Amino acid sequence: MSSILIKKALINNKQQDLLIIENKIQLISKDIPIKEEYIVINGENKAVIPGMANTHTHAAMTLFRGYGDDLPLMEWLENYIWPVEAHMTDEDIYWGVRLACLEMIKTGTTLFLDMYASPLATAQAVEDSGIRASIGYTLFDRGDTNRAQLDRKNCYKYKKEFEKFSSRVNFSIAPHAIYTVSGDQLKFCKDFSTETNTLVHLHLSETKEEVKNSIKNYGLRPIHYLHKIGALNEKFILAHSLWYNKSEIDIIAQIGASVIHNPASNLKLASGYKFKFKEMQEKGIRIGLGTDGCSSSNNLDMFIAMRIAALLGKAWRFDPTSNSALDIYKTATENGYNILGINGGIIKEGAIADLCLIKTNTPIMTPLHNIISNLVYSADGSIVDTTIVDGKILMKEGFIPEEEEILKKASMHAYNLINKYGV
Ligand SMILES: [Zn+2]
Repeated sequence: MSSILIKKALINNKQQDLLIIENKIQLISKDIPIKEEYIVINGENKAVIPGMANTHTHAAMTLFRGYGDDLPLMEWLENYIWPVEAHMTDEDIYWGVRLACLEMIKTGTTLFLDMYASPLATAQAVEDSGIRASIGYTLFDRGDTNRAQLDRKNCYKYKKEFEKFSSRVNFSIAPHAIYTVSGDQLKFCKDFSTETNTLVHLHLSETKEEVKNSIKNYGLRPIHYLHKIGALNEKFILAHSLWYNKSEIDIIAQIGASVIHNPASNLKLASGYKFKFKEMQEKGIRIGLGTDGCSSSNNLDMFIAMRIAALLGKAWRFDPTSNSALDIYKTATENGYNILGINGGIIKEGAIADLCLIKTNTPIMTPLHNIISNLVYSADGSIVDTTIVDGKILMKEGFIPEEEEILKKASMHAYNLINKYGV
């Protein structure tokens, strides 16, 4: 693996150099001497920022971007999405994920947490694209005990099979939701997680309806239910987390589980918008940021996710001081890395070299009074110039060698699926 030296970039608010050796940030300093073996990047008119962590998505759903929008949730799922998904092959999923990774690399995302079918096809696409991910094996039994048994076996099977991939490609388990996975199975997920040190990725408290049904079916709100059946630990990552009350927030804090805010998806599906950022932050709960899949957020640009999160949190509280730009920036970077257990999302010596060079000489970044403000309130993914993951350059000056092929193949798979099985 080669060493990379970035010269004269804006790094942590100072003009300095940054040296990457193997997959780590080795040194940040002024005037690091150039050696023959270094790949040298001119950082003038650029800043180094950590790569973004998209901590809740369904990557292969890029194939459904713009298909079946503006419909009620159940009509959309039952008539548009599920009939097509039932026919998706591993190859469709592979190219859908390649398209997702391409978009993420172009817009400065270096790590994501995924939940979808065919974990091996997803893992192969992540491996080939060079990005970093934790890929969830989706458990979905709907009370069918045979399916539940098969899912349990598969958790062990896939955990083992993932060992063949590089250290960028991590395995997690993803029980879909409390209304699609039985209580026994959720308890299994927690036990499996404790036994094998594996993250658990779950949709929770996304809609008011889900809370109502939880009370109706289990006599308890979602977190109280999981807590009662012993199906929560600090490895649980709870996507959406929109409808918690105070005592649910207390339990999450006490257990040490994490929550993921998905503002674009919540708005588009009209699931709600009062994400309790302040209440959860005050309790020390780790908060990450995600886009959700391209069916419900349409793009994977974390700069846009940051802006929506920042604006929305102020609007519903009628308080412009709530969730500052820095708070939101941290959810998208170091919190996301921390939640996924990776020493990154921050530009400091010793951290993993997952980072971006962004252009500072563009209209949306000028003037540069406050770079964090610009990143959250003004920028979008188009400012990303160069993306490095695990010490390797995946995009340089906007160029990714396989871009054209990925766009062509992914479009072909998307059109085939929709023409054959879509509405
Ligand atoms: Zn989701």
